[in-house]
This record gives sequence, C-alpha cells and structure tokens, in this order.
Amino acid sequence: MLYQSTRNAAKKVNAAEAIVKGISEDGGLFVPCEIPHISLEDIKSLSEKNYRDRAKTILGLYLTDFTGEELDKCVTNAYNSKSFGSDAIAPLHHLNDTASILELWHGPTCAFKDMALQILPHFMTCSIKKRKIDREIVILVATSGDTGKAALEGFADVEGTRILVFFPENGVSEIQKLQMLTQEGKNVGVASVCGNFDDAQTGVKRIFGDSEFNAVLEENGFRLSSANSINWGRLVPQIVYYFSAYCDMVNSGKVAVGDKINICVPTGNFGNILAAWYAKEMGLPVNKFICASNANNVLTDFINTGIYDKNREFKTTTSPSMDILISSNLERLLFDITGRNEKLIKDWMNKLSSCGKYEVSDTEKEIIKSNFYGGYCNDDDTKETIKSIWNEYKYLMDTHTAVGYNVYKQYTDKTGDKTPAVIASTANPYKFNETVLNAVSPGINTKLMNEFDVLYALNEKTGLEIPYSLAELKDKAKRFDTKCEKENMINVVREMLGIR
Ligand SMILES: *Cc1c(COP(=O)(O)O)cnc(C)c1O
Repeated sequence: MLYQSTRNAAKKVNAAEAIVKGISEDGGLFVPCEIPHISLEDIKSLSEKNYRDRAKTILGLYLTDFTGEELDKCVTNAYNSKSFGSDAIAPLHHLNDTASILELWHGPTCAFKDMALQILPHFMTCSIKKRKIDREIVILVATSGDTGKAALEGFADVEGTRILVFFPENGVSEIQKLQMLTQEGKNVGVASVCGNFDDAQTGVKRIFGDSEFNAVLEENGFRLSSANSINWGRLVPQIVYYFSAYCDMVNSGKVAVGDKINICVPTGNFGNILAAWYAKEMGLPVNKFICASNANNVLTDFINTGIYDKNREFKTTTSPSMDILISSNLERLLFDITGRNEKLIKDWMNKLSSCGKYEVSDTEKEIIKSNFYGGYCNDDDTKETIKSIWNEYKYLMDTHTAVGYNVYKQYTDKTGDKTPAVIASTANPYKFNETVLNAVSPGINTKLMNEFDVLYALNEKTGLEIPYSLAELKDKAKRFDTKCEKENMINVVREMLGIR
C-alpha cells in the first residue's frame, strides 16, 4: 500500500514515510493510493475477535510495510487494560432503542485522542527504524486542548523523539491546562500562544513549511514531524473503532451483519468523522454520517451549501476541542469525492488561504448531501442535553458528546430515520466538569469553586468515579510557564531544542 499527497499524485511513499513526515512537502495530506476492502464475511469474523485483533486486521490492510510482528507489538503496547481500564478499549453503551454511545475516552488522558496517540509513538519508532533515520524526530503539536496532553502522554520519554506542544492561552479548560503543564518526561516541552487554536495551528504549519528553518534543524540533528490529525498515523487507528463498534452492535443484536447504521460524530478538525468515512469506503454498512458542530458551525454551512467560508467570528464555547474554523482533514474527503483531483484541491486550498473561502461544484455538493447531515448546537442546548440525558437515563455526557447527541436528535426529529446509530463520545465528563456540573446541579454556584472542588461535587452528585489521572493533578507541580506571541513560535522551538 502506497500513499500520495492530496496535492501531488506523482510522488508516492510507503506508510512508514508518511508517518514520519506527517505532512507532504507540497502542503498536502497523505492519503492511501487505494482504499482496501473489507467484506461482510470479514466483518463476521472480526465480530468474534477482541479489540486488539480487530485493530491488527484493519491496520494491517493499511500499514503493509509493517511486519505482523511489528504491528502486533504496536497494538499490544497501545491497547491494553492497564492504559484503557479494561480490555473493551472502546466500549459501546446502549442508551436506548436507536442510540448507542461509543465511549472513546477510557485512555490515560480521558479524551478520544488517546485512541490514536497511544499507538502513534509506536508507529513512529518503528517507522524511524525502518527508514534508518539518524535524526531525532521533533513532534510539533498545535492543540485545542486534548491532543496536546494525549500527545505528551504518548510520546513522553519515547526514545529518538522530542515533543513540543503549543496551546491557545485562553482556549483550553483549567484541567486541560494543568494536564499539559504538569507533564513529566525528559523530552517534552509546552508553551501557550496568545491567540486561538487556528493561530496556533497556522503557526505550526508555517514552521513545517519553512525550508530554511528545517535545514537548520537537520544540521542540528533534528527532523520535524506531526502528531496532529493531519498525520496518517493518527487517522488509521481511528478507522478501527468504527468497525469495532459495528461488531459490538452485531454481537448485541442491534443489527445483523450487512444492516446499515448511522454514525454521529462531534466534529472539529474533521479527523474523527473522516475515519468513519474511510470505514464506509472500505465496506462498513453506513447509511448517514451526522456531522455535529458547536457554535463554530463552518462545517454545518459547508454541508448545507457547498461553500466553505471561515470568514466569521471565532467563538469560544463549552466544547473547546471543537472551536475550530479551519477543518484540515476536510481536504482528504474532498480529494476522495472529486475522484482524486489534485488540481481542484490545490485550487480550493489556495483560495482558503488567500481569501478564507471556496465553493465546491454541484457534483461534490450532491455527494456530500447524500452522505452527510450537518447540524450544530449552542452552549445552552449543550447544557440542556447533558441535563435531560442524565435525568432520563442517569447517563453522564461531556459537552462534546452532548453536542453530538443534540444534533443526532435534530436529525431524527427532522427525518424520522430510525436506523440504529452509533454516537461517538469523545471525552470523559469529568474533563469538562464545570459545564457538566452546572447542567446536572441547577442552582449550584461554581464561580467560587476551584477545579478540584468541582470534580468532588460532580462525584457527589452522580456517584461516578473521578478518573485518577485527573484527581492526581491536584498534587502535581507545574513544569512550564512559556507564553509567546503567535509570530514568535519559531523562537520557542529554537529555544526548546537549544538551537541558536
Ligand atoms: C479533538 C476532539 C474533538 C474533535 O475531533 P476532530 O477529529 O478534530 O473532529 C471532539 N471532542 C473532543 C473531546 C476532542 O478532544
């Protein structure tokens, strides 16, 4: 299996190279040259396996330059009961007759990013060896909150790598900030950027594209790579859990093999939902994708009109990991639905960076409309959703998951579609505790409570166990205090790597 850039079909690389590089030199994203197929027979036999074996099967179709032994090692080291609480790894919770919640947050940092970032470092070290690279790999990350911590946790003290994380100073929750600033490990660095997530992401992309600086890094024994969801190594592990969820639906009798399901995903950078799209392209029976946004509803408008327009106010919401106006992974979907037309993609992406806007043609609009439903949910409705689900089912959702559920309800109310649905749950409710506590305890005043009092109050109210990795933050020392202007990120990188 080879990979090409969405902006250049001529140059092809294998999986190891795509993973080490992260992003293609031409600014495009690596995509598989063809999409492998899974038959219904294959799905039947996957249903009899555990998560690790399901993962080995799916990953093996994409990472064909990895040996069975190497894949086995990556999967076993990443997905175990020690890191994920149990061997289920990504369990399904059947909420009611039609909606099942796919809990993707049982990993060490309590958000779904662990599903990919627990395995990416293993892919990376394996790929470095295969490519015989003698440079230290520097992982540069821009984060809206959850990626940063999950990447730090995954890469901490991984041989042959360094990891530097930039987060928007006012764009992440207090718990997220603490999770990052207390990160242990010899090879880690963290800095905040004065700006929003898009500023941080743009800054990181600029450093990747700075050939002069990259030459300086090479001279000093470093090479940049990415752990953002633009890296193929981040996306491919996410395809696994959609197959796994389908298998669990089959095993619980919710569907028979071959029946279609709907998949609803609370979306930011379009990575998680894109993985579901690839699963369908491979043969997973999917009827509709429900793409849920918060008040930053650029994707909702895109799905409804075919016009992508980021020229709008950036809103800070209670689902901060989705506060994004440039959904990078959309480029991969567009590549697929234009019949892999690199010229069109280049044209649109140039328009996006020069005037913040592009419009796809009627052909693409049709394909998007027939596969996707786009909707959004504001902060008040997010809170209301958490409250009503708790009251009705005694099931506690985080803010991002609640955005997903709310939009799923909008969809079923509008269409009457009763297709069994899998709703991706992307964070443990304790991670976005203040909004969640306010939702389930109306009248409580959280203004005067500190982060940890909120955790304890939520525990008292719901009886759900506080994840140890969050509770222990109380006694951990902060290790980082670097704050920079968005123009200055490159200097922070220099400093952290000790380059003059
Ligand atoms: C990152 C994240 C999202 C958005 O996922 P994308 O792949 O960027 O669409 C949603 N919810 C949570 C909790 C996240 O951390």
